[in-house]
Amino acid sequence: MSEASFIDRLDRLADHGQRLDFWLRDDDVTEPTPALDRLIGLCNRHHVPVLLAAIPAGTGAPLAQRLAQEPLVRMAVHGWAHQNHAPPGEKKQELGPHRPTDTVADQLSEGVRHLSALFGPRLVPVLVPPWNRIAPQVATALPGIGFRALSVFGPEKPGPLPQINTYVDLIDWRGSRGGRPAEDLFADLNRRIDAVVAASSGSVGLLGHHLVHDAAAWDFLDRVLALAAAHPACRWPTFDQMMPATA
Ligand SMILES: [Zn+2]
Repeated sequence: MSEASFIDRLDRLADHGQRLDFWLRDDDVTEPTPALDRLIGLCNRHHVPVLLAAIPAGTGAPLAQRLAQEPLVRMAVHGWAHQNHAPPGEKKQELGPHRPTDTVADQLSEGVRHLSALFGPRLVPVLVPPWNRIAPQVATALPGIGFRALSVFGPEKPGPLPQINTYVDLIDWRGSRGGRPAEDLFADLNRRIDAVVAASSGSVGLLGHHLVHDAAAWDFLDRVLALAAAHPACRWPTFDQMMPATA
């Protein structure tokens, strides 16, 4: 049902000559794995770019070598070590208010240096905070570290940096920790498409975590890319093409 109305929406947009930006972010990469090969293979098959949010502390030359010949891949800094510093009972945060802002900012700078050395110009100056959470005082420090955008989950909020967020999370984190039902995912996509059309701005960002994808998550990703990758209503820019222009 939701899938049929997803196709319907895209067809109607195309009839009106409208095109929306679609994109895929995938978090927590550090090293080459069969799951990463599967993700990259899927993106290559559908000619769809992917923004990989890499955990700098765990990332090294093997990942850089694996991705060196993958033109559809862009990289983002995903915190420093994806380590929780919030006390038990609080939502997990690495970039929260629990440590001095300078300490957190220094780690993020180190992350930028490290990933920049590994990935060069394919590192996009966007920060993807672990668990999609960042304290306001840390966000304020980001422009000074060289970041020009922030990418979390859900509605974009005003702040020191523009946000380019994901809206469709493939994984059911609080339940099965596997792929969410396709029906629900297509419903999320439809809601986001309607919001982008109504606002005449924004993009349709999908969020994956290749290391935990089960058959349902892989099937949905393959299905949505098969439907939307080559659809005339969909543009699939690389993430750097969506970045705000420098002043
Ligand atoms: Zn993460």
